[in-house]
Amino acid sequence: MGVDMPDSAPRITAKVFELPLKYTWKISRNASDVKPNVLVFLSCQGITGIGEAAPNIRYEESAESTLAFIEKARPLLESADLKQYAHLGQEILDLGPGQTAAKAALDIALLDWNARAMGVPLYRLWGLAPARTPLTSYSIGIDELPVMQKKVSEARDFRVLKIKVGTDRDREIIEAVREVTDVPLRVDANEGWKDKHLALENIQWLAGKGVEFIEQPMPAAQFEDYVWLKGRSPLPLIADESVKGLEDIGGLSEGFHGINIKIMKSGGLQQAHHMISLARAHRLKVMLGCMVETSVAISAAAALTPLVDYADLDGHLLIAQDPFRGIGIKNGRIILNDLPGHGAVER
Ligand SMILES: [Mg+2]
Repeated sequence: MGVDMPDSAPRITAKVFELPLKYTWKISRNASDVKPNVLVFLSCQGITGIGEAAPNIRYEESAESTLAFIEKARPLLESADLKQYAHLGQEILDLGPGQTAAKAALDIALLDWNARAMGVPLYRLWGLAPARTPLTSYSIGIDELPVMQKKVSEARDFRVLKIKVGTDRDREIIEAVREVTDVPLRVDANEGWKDKHLALENIQWLAGKGVEFIEQPMPAAQFEDYVWLKGRSPLPLIADESVKGLEDIGGLSEGFHGINIKIMKSGGLQQAHHMISLARAHRLKVMLGCMVETSVAISAAAALTPLVDYADLDGHLLIAQDPFRGIGIKNGRIILNDLPGHGAVER
């Protein structure tokens, strides 16, 4: 009594998983065949919470910088009361700037641990109804047109697709996709159109092609052009690269109709939840997106989707062999399982 059992203090382990991709993943700015993500295991009192970081080079993150941040957080977490996750989540954010993927991994593990300790699915921490999950899109990366058509044909389980553009042959891409499917399309240019007049012309053309919205048509640095474009665009403009965390939302509605929140950008689930509330206060539509992630981070993000308008949680489907199993997708809709925590388990 009064003596700490060896297992009573939290322990963190982190491990790099080299995830091979099904297809070379190509968007307007880069291409990759393998994704090194960092999985975090947070154990205490016989319960292990699992988190994941998908480091992004755009935000000066790598597996190494992620592991370094986790080491920095180790003394805090290994001496903390994990049940005080709201305070602890903020203390993790306060450890230093950037490295939001590492922060997300720790926050996911922390919330997963808590939900498992309570014996409830993660979505119960926010009082959400699992049946209210939205449709999720499946993303088609840039490739040769027949390959893109093949990917579209393989995505029969989805009722909406997200098409990556931002090339010098964007209309050919959309025409080719339209030859093989009539589902609604979301179009993501990943900042590929550098001129506002070109962006408007492209969007006007896309408006006749069954497109639901356009994501990040121009570079994030061109905010004034977004203000100009929003006043003219026949399709909603969704910010992705233009918004990273909570601090970026103020003023954004002048140039955009909605935002793409990702837990790897926000620094975790708790911050993403705050972002959803703030976006609503600014009358922004909300999409919950992802990076290339295993079922751990995807299932964690999926727990928040009953709160959003659009989901784009397909990162685990781009991995050749996901080491984890979590959410399901049925008739294009996310199916949350009722396991305690985020519900992702090792295969
Ligand atoms: Mg995007």
